[in-house]
Amino acid sequence: MIILVDMDDTIEHLLKAWVNGVNEKYGRCVSCDEIVSWDVSAAFPGLTHEQVYEIPMKPGFWKTVEPIEDAPEVLSRLIASGNEVYIVTATPYESIFEKMSEVLFKYFPFLSWDQVIVTSRKQLIRGDVLIDDGIHNLEGGQYKKVLMTAPHNIRFDAEAHGMIRVHNWKEVEEVINSLCASH
Ligand SMILES: [Mg+2]
Repeated sequence: MIILVDMDDTIEHLLKAWVNGVNEKYGRCVSCDEIVSWDVSAAFPGLTHEQVYEIPMKPGFWKTVEPIEDAPEVLSRLIASGNEVYIVTATPYESIFEKMSEVLFKYFPFLSWDQVIVTSRKQLIRGDVLIDDGIHNLEGGQYKKVLMTAPHNIRFDAEAHGMIRVHNWKEVEEVINSLCASH
């Protein structure tokens, strides 16, 4: 199968590093569970959208982003069993180099730039399945839809919208293997 995989908060902990960064800079103590909207700045009353959104654009930020547990091992097993994996990310161009070198190729060294697609219109990409925490990236796509649980999507009824909700990479592996079996 062709497996499309989102990057932020699907294979790495962007939100955790981002919230930590804002907390440190502005003396806040917001936790990731409080980020219940796609707009992260909504959880930081008193701060502007710009103040919150400049944090992941700062040089050195991506060094603080860690991989999600089991994501490297599961992706590497899915490739070994004959699937094609593509990372599909809607990254601002300014942060691409640091994000790729400090996160993707550091923790997922078996992936190459040939397997990275940068777009904010994921529905234009053809693949058998997309794994993503962003509901808006799954809606309307021609792929099977696997929703990675995140605080901002926790109240969304994935099943009613034709999506399969997963909570971790062990569950991703089970879902993909069962989709492969029926492919
Ligand atoms: Mg994401």
